[in-house]
Amino acid sequence: MIIRKLFKFEGSHIVRNCSSQRCRENIHGHSYKVEVFIEADQLDRGYMVMDFCRLDKVKEFIESFDHSYSLWTEENPDFKSFIYRYNRRVAEIPVSPSAEGYALLFFYGIDQILRHTPRINGESEVRLHSVRVHETDTGHAEAFREDLQLVKFKIEDIRFSEGVTEDWKSAEWWEKLL
Ligand SMILES: [Zn+2]
Repeated sequence: MIIRKLFKFEGSHIVRNCSSQRCRENIHGHSYKVEVFIEADQLDRGYMVMDFCRLDKVKEFIESFDHSYSLWTEENPDFKSFIYRYNRRVAEIPVSPSAEGYALLFFYGIDQILRHTPRINGESEVRLHSVRVHETDTGHAEAFREDLQLVKFKIEDIRFSEGVTEDWKSAEWWEKLL
């Protein structure tokens, strides 16, 4: 069975090297929707794949991008220092922040979070099925497990500024992933 949980964030970025001049040369934002699909062969004692309340760390991870600038690590140093200088909330990420980049990054991060989420209610082998990222109402990108072959980074290559981490209830969940 598959369950799906929707998360939302307001994010800003530049997508370098894309075909559209507007997108590759201007800081701009989108109202993102992130659909997380989780599957299991068995149900837990509450007849659920996994209680949504157990996804609190997934929510914290995705909300770290809310009202944040998603800064590609490959940006030039002048631009990076400008962003850090005038923005409190920055998510520095090892992929370009296209919908595809986010889908891959979120799949990778959420997969790690789920691996570190203890099974406490008789859940079976709970697996992340896919992550779908909508940048607009009309288009989305979806990452599946086989797309992990595109991952050339580690969790420590995702860095959140203090303006992000100070809003976390606790940093313990993130430190466990590192
Ligand atoms: Zn955009």
